[in-house]
Amino acid sequence: MQVGIVGLGLIGGSLGLDLKAQGRLVWGLSRSRATCELAVNMGAVDIAVTELLDVPQLEQTQVIFVCTPIAQVIPTVQLLAKYVGAHTVITDVASVKGAIVQSAQGIYPRFIGSHPMAGTEVQGIKGAQRDLFVDRPCVVCPADDIDAVDIVRSLWNSLGMKVYDCDPHTHDQAVAWISHLPVMLGASLIHACHQQRDAKVQYFAQKLASSGFRDTTRVGGGNPELGRLMAEFNCEALQIALSQYQAEISLLAQMINQENWDAVQNYLENAQQWRSLFV
Ligand code: NAP
Repeated sequence: MQVGIVGLGLIGGSLGLDLKAQGRLVWGLSRSRATCELAVNMGAVDIAVTELLDVPQLEQTQVIFVCTPIAQVIPTVQLLAKYVGAHTVITDVASVKGAIVQSAQGIYPRFIGSHPMAGTEVQGIKGAQRDLFVDRPCVVCPADDIDAVDIVRSLWNSLGMKVYDCDPHTHDQAVAWISHLPVMLGASLIHACHQQRDAKVQYFAQKLASSGFRDTTRVGGGNPELGRLMAEFNCEALQIALSQYQAEISLLAQMINQENWDAVQNYLENAQQWRSLFV
């Protein structure tokens, strides 16, 4: 099976490494020539080009993964739709689905929305790694073209992912809570700590920060462009999650202000118990 990847960054590069390891013929398309060269040298793709029309035998590609930043997904589908063979399935990996799936299917009916829930805080092809997707969840959005859905689903399955069918609207609401909100919280925690003005306290806070701080801020200290696009393209669901989160912080602050330690312990016991529902 010949597979194409547009956007050779963290996700596109990691996908290429795994697809190549399966013995598939993989071409890549990316903006920068340096990225293309690195992707080939790393073994993430067989060939990489900066112009779509330079892809050899493009019409023989069975599946194309669009792994560009969110804002470039629709323009990329518009470009691909002009040149790929009618049998080709196009899918994406973007962290939002509502702003993409319906429009993309209007442009190209064999477009299937997907979102592999895997990543690191590193940006670009240099962060690409083998087995990034193993044992992670992946959303595939249901569509009328059952055959195309099956092809996309089985490819993600073959990479070790646990695939869930989920419509774009529900997906965007769910990821607002467990992915986009944590990015904003992690970032705001870093801001709050950085604004601590006592120089000695600031010095020791920076020196003493260890695994707890690293875990709670990991996503907030990641790719700023990706975080901005999550907020921009999933604005409504994120606003709801943020305001409900503000209410939780206020509630906790009130318990602490009132020195209601039993209430604080009860709150933390519930959190300890409910965490296992998510991770
Ligand atoms: P990334 O590391 O910044 O990679 C994106 C790459 O796309 C860039 O390296 C850039 O390559 C290339 N690119 C940008 N515009 C392009 C265009 N018009 N045509 C072709 N290539 C273009 O970002 P990422 O983290 O892999 O994210 C990519 C997608 O995956 C996003 O839609 C994101 O929502 C989704 N996603 C990310 C994560 C995560 O944790 N990072 C997880 C799941 C899904 P050049 O170097 O050539 O400029």
